[in-house]
This record gives sequence, C-alpha cells and structure tokens, in this order.
Amino acid sequence: MASELAKRIKQKQSLLDATLENPELRILSLGAGVQSSTIALMSARGDLPRLDYAIFADTGWEPKAVYEWLDWLETKLPFPVLRVQRQGEDLGQHAISIATLDVTRTASPPWYTAGPDGMLPKQCSGEYKTRVIGRKVRELLGLAPGQRGPKEQVVEQWIGISKDEMQRMRHSEQKFTLNRFPLIEKRMSRIDCIKWMLERQYPRPPKSSCIFCPYRGQDQWRDMRDNAPEDWEAAVAFDKSIRPGFFGMEGQAFLHRQRVPLDQVDLSTAADQGQGALFDEECEGVCGV
Ligand code: SF4
Repeated sequence: MASELAKRIKQKQSLLDATLENPELRILSLGAGVQSSTIALMSARGDLPRLDYAIFADTGWEPKAVYEWLDWLETKLPFPVLRVQRQGEDLGQHAISIATLDVTRTASPPWYTAGPDGMLPKQCSGEYKTRVIGRKVRELLGLAPGQRGPKEQVVEQWIGISKDEMQRMRHSEQKFTLNRFPLIEKRMSRIDCIKWMLERQYPRPPKSSCIFCPYRGQDQWRDMRDNAPEDWEAAVAFDKSIRPGFFGMEGQAFLHRQRVPLDQVDLSTAADQGQGALFDEECEGVCGV
C-alpha cells in the first residue's frame, strides 16, 4: 500500500515540487467539505501558513448542511471567506433553463441518459467552480477584464485534495497561479482529516457536492433520503425536471445510474450496486472537498 502511494506521488511529482517564496496572494479553493475545511482550520491555527482568502464557489445547490457548516467555519477563520457565483446565477437554474438551447453550450452536470450518450459531458465544475474562482483571483490581483495577467507565478491556490484522491491533482488554468495540495504534501487522507478535526474537538464536516450531483453512491442517496428530507425532496423534484433531456441529446436524463426516477430507486440494497461513490470518477474541478 505504501509503495503504491509512493508510485502515485512520483507520477504526480511535478505538481508537488514547486513552491513560491513570497506569493502576492495565497488563497484556498474552499469546497466546504472535509478536506478544504481541514486546510482552512490548519491555516487558522498556524499549522500551515496564513491564507489571504478562502474562496467558496457557490453553485447554489449545496446541501443545507454545507451552508450551515460554512456559516460556522467562517466564525473560526481569521481571514475572509469570499462566496462567489457565476454571474449571479446558480447551476441548477442554468441547467434547467438550457433545455431549449444547444446542449454543447451548457454547463451540464454529468447526468445519466437513457439514450446512446450514456452520460452527459461534465462541464459544471469547470464553469461553476474553477473558472469562477479564477475570475475572483484576477479581481483580487486588480486585473481588468481581458487584461493580461503576470507572466510569472504570483498566486498560490491551495486545493483540498487528499492523498486518496491524487488522480484529481491538476495544474492551474491560469499561468500566474501555482496549485498546491497541502494535504498530499502532508500525506493526509480524508480519514486523517476527520481524525485531525475530531482530535481538536471540531464537529465533523458534511460532504459537499450539489444535491443533484450524480457522483453519489447508493448509501449517500439513502443518507440524503433518510437524514436530509428537504435536500431529498429538492433532488427528486430536480430529477423529474431533467427527464425530457436537452435539445441535442437523445433519450431521457436521470440523476441515478439505474436510470429510473430517483424516488423509485430501491435504496435498501447494498452500498455498491454499480453506482460509483462520490468523485471516484474524474472531476477537474474542486467539487466534494
Ligand atoms: S458537485 Fe457534481 S454537479 Fe456539482 S459542480 Fe461538482 S461535478 Fe457538477
């Protein structure tokens, strides 16, 4: 197991080697889940260098528990938490409203389809998270829209990817931003983060991800149904609303891999049933952390 980890770290080494001596700006891409919350609190406690800002890209469809957690977390941090949204709109409304538009121009979540496509291409996390945070970083640097950014790297962006999700590490789309992965540098897994929190008497953070995100395992859907009825109701309604699919797409769309209405899925069965757990699949954004 240890050698497997060493092998994976070696493959991604170029993403771990670089550091900036005195970055002009040090920000955290805050997903408000376990990992990024751990980093935020580590910085607050002095276990990591002090952040200038934490930036939360709000799709507008996080579970209620995540917004409550974010409100709590904000009170524990000595640096500002900036909540940003794409042009003031939320992902869910956008996704529904594009039903009459060309599907190639959407920011679609990767919903399952009953047609030959299988699954819609995932454009949501890039459009509603990565790029929204990138625009905020430009603004913080004082760059006008369209103005070229610095040639050299001046921004450190910390991302809460833990060692068990190393395949999600990416370079930044912005040349002047260096992505850093403090949890991987510390060889911490998601479970290590939870332990770190509990040892310091912090409450356990919720899982972050849009309530209609299909990267959700059977047990996670069941947990939503049983413990977060408001979120479940919204997810069921959302699932119904996407059923016709979108212009340019064949077949119906579903939130659940079984491609049946969400409130008709048998969630009493074993956890796997072929439905992948959250973000086992590739995600270039910063969802779920
Ligand atoms: S949580 Fe899922 S639906 Fe939401 S932006 Fe990320 S990948 Fe898309």
